[in-house]
Parts: sequence; structure tokens; C-alpha cells
Amino acid sequence: MKITRLFVCLLLLFLAPSQSTFAADTATAGAGWKVGLSQVRVTPAHPVVMSGYGGRTKPFEGVAGDLYVKALVIEDAEGHRAAIVTSDLLGFSAAVAEPICEEINTKTGLKRDQILLTSSHTHAGPMLSLNPADQTGVAEGEALRSVAYTKLLQQKVVEVVTEAAAKLEPAHFSFGSGVINFAMNRREFTPTGIILGVNPRGLADRSVPVLRIDTPDGNPRAVLFGAAVHNTTLGGDNYQICGDYAGFTQAYIDEQLPGVQAMFVLGCAGDANPYPRGTMEITRQHGEALGKEVCRVLETKLRPISGPMKVAFDQVALPLQTNFTREQLESLTANKRSAQAFCATKMLAALDRGEKLLTHYDAPVTVWQFGDDLTMVALSGEVVVDYVTLLEKALGPNKLWLAAYANDVFGYLPSARVLAEGGYETRGLYSGGAGFFAPQAEETLVKKVRKLAGKAGRKLPE
Ligand SMILES: [Zn+2]
Repeated sequence: MKITRLFVCLLLLFLAPSQSTFAADTATAGAGWKVGLSQVRVTPAHPVVMSGYGGRTKPFEGVAGDLYVKALVIEDAEGHRAAIVTSDLLGFSAAVAEPICEEINTKTGLKRDQILLTSSHTHAGPMLSLNPADQTGVAEGEALRSVAYTKLLQQKVVEVVTEAAAKLEPAHFSFGSGVINFAMNRREFTPTGIILGVNPRGLADRSVPVLRIDTPDGNPRAVLFGAAVHNTTLGGDNYQICGDYAGFTQAYIDEQLPGVQAMFVLGCAGDANPYPRGTMEITRQHGEALGKEVCRVLETKLRPISGPMKVAFDQVALPLQTNFTREQLESLTANKRSAQAFCATKMLAALDRGEKLLTHYDAPVTVWQFGDDLTMVALSGEVVVDYVTLLEKALGPNKLWLAAYANDVFGYLPSARVLAEGGYETRGLYSGGAGFFAPQAEETLVKKVRKLAGKAGRKLPE
């Protein structure tokens, strides 16, 4: 080892000046960062109702895999900070997320636009709710237990970010991409309409973004990685707490790289399911497949990621359809099994209370820009895959990480195409209000992301 180093040093002495400059540049590329890491187990200690599938009104019966909330706080050489939280949970609604961000601000000084709360969207985790009345079909005692769990969880998220922010250490960032093969578009076209099924010819984002975080001497400390597949390998008949495939992936990486904090970020998975699905064994297989791919990418030649870091955050007013008559809403509620019935029922109740229908929904959008090297866009809601193509066109396809299910999971965010075709993703808001997105929401969102990316310093195509 020492001999090799000596040889390299001697070699550098004889290199032309321009090449020496290059060597110095590559040595500093990806450096200058500081990170703080922390994680906490959030597996419910007491039986609580699970969330993600309608109809599960009794508590979980066992634990197949622990759930975690993990924090990564980043600081660039100029002192700009940002924090990302990943979690094995269904999703943070604005009602749950905003008090967390306020408390993090009090404890760490990190402002709202510097905080990114994400969730893996596991459907084998606990219900998150601060209001027992929101938990349809759940007995009052169970609903109160969910509220207690949610309050405790909020505290834990604040604590984990505060801990991470208090122990920043020098780090080196690098980035690469891999691919997975279990992503399946789930909008199946049938003679009687679009169902939640399998559509092998449909689009799915199979990319696996991987951000490797090392100590300055090259030892891995953390990996932030993504996939754009619903965490729904386990179905509604499952009563075991589990992080689904993403939970198994993190466990696999823990096993392969002890001490390295593995953090999962979900992409535009609104209309993508794992394939196949249905059993714990398949869930483990998908998890390990993704874990192996992340570990493989970590060993490839990664691109250094330099600072400075710039964040841009804003709410975008996404237009909702306002031209509903009471009769139209009533016909949507007539079929209780239709995807639109839940939202239409809430809209009718609003009309009954003498309220006007909502005209738009304020959806948070975050953009993180890492020097000229990487842009991470974090959308809120369950974003369908069409936005991958739309945003690649609006922002340029390179050096781009597209994440979703961040900050506020209010419902599906369909594209204009999906709205025109129909299907499950057109079911409307399920939290933070009631309404169905209008086709114009697509253009409004894409324009906003482009504006924020430009503000954060991404070089945009004409
Ligand atoms: Zn979903």
C-alpha cells in the first residue's frame, strides 16, 4: 500500500503542470461537505391500526421488520444547511409535518425550506393521525392510540434531526445510478375501464439514484438512495408491521455495510407497483434486489458532487375542478366502491355545511441544488410517472433526481393524461381538504418546479 502511494507521489512529480492541476481538482471535487446522521426505531410499542389499505380496522398482529426514521443534515463549505428525513411510514400529511418542522426550527434553526420530510409509503406501518374523527371505521379507543403514536412519532422526528444537526463532520459526496426490474405500471386497461392491475407496456421509472456519503478518507458513512415503486408488495391481508421492500433493502445494506446509514427516498411511484407481489418472501426478494443494486452502484466509479448547496421551497397552488354540480357528486358517491366516492362524499358534506368547493390545493415543492452536479426535486403527493418525462423535458434530463411523497402526502397527483383516461389515481385529495385535480395542475406544477430549479441555480434548457 505504502509503496503504491509512494509511486503515485513520484509519478505526480513528473506530470505536466496541467495534469497536476487536474489531480488537485479531482482531490477536492465532492469534498467540503459536513454531515450529521442519526436514526431512531419507530416500530409501535403497542398494537395500533395499520394504514394504506381501506378495511383494516384492527391492530397489527406482529412485527416482521422494524420501522425507522432517519435524518441526514448537510452543511456546505459556506455554511448552508439542509436536512432530509426518511421514514418507514405511509406518509406525512401537512397536519402532521408542519408542527414537526416548526419544532425542528426552534431546536436547530433550520427553516421550513431547509427541511425535507419523506416517507417510504409502506402499507404495513401504523396509521398516522392527529384527529380520531378522520379514522373512518376505526373504534374510538384504537383511533386514540393512533393519535398517541403520531404525537410520539412527531417528537422522535424532531429529536433525530436535532441529534444529527448537533454532530456535523466532514464528508465527501458522490453520485451514481442503477436500475431495478420489479417496477410495474399498475394502470391496467380492461374492457370496463382502468383497474389497479398490471400493465407491462405502461411507463415506470426503473432508475435507482444513489448518493454516497464518505468520510474524507473514503470510508462510507451513509447512502441516500431511491426507487419509484409503491411500497405495496404486501397486501391488505397483511397484519405484520414491515417496511415492505424498502425496509428489507435498508436491512440488507445494514448487513452488508455495518454502520452505514441507509436511507430510502421514494420517487414518482403513483402508478407503479412492485411485481410480483403478495407475500413476505417476495417482499424480501424485491428488497434484496434493490439492496444488491445499491451496493453494486456504490462500488462503481461515482461522480463527485460539489457544493455550494442551494435550496428552494414553495407552495404551488394546484387547480382543482370546480365545475361540479351536486348531482354529479351524488352520482360519484352512488358506487361506494368507486375510487372517487370517498372524496365526492367529503365534497358533498362541505356543500351541506354551506361551504364553497376548494379551488386549489397548496402543494409544497422542494428543490436542492448541489453545485453544478446534481438537482434533487422533491414533490409532494403520490406523483404519477408522467411527471418524470415532463420534468426531464422542463429541467433537462441530466444530473436530476426526482423524488415524491415529500412534505405532504395529500393524495394522488395525476397528469392531464391520467385525468383524461380515468382510473384510481384520479380519486382526488384524501387529506388536507376535498377536491379533484384539474388537468391544468400538470402545467402549473411543471412551471413551478422549473422556476424553483432556476432559483436554486440549475442551468435550464431553453
Ligand atoms: Zn399510494
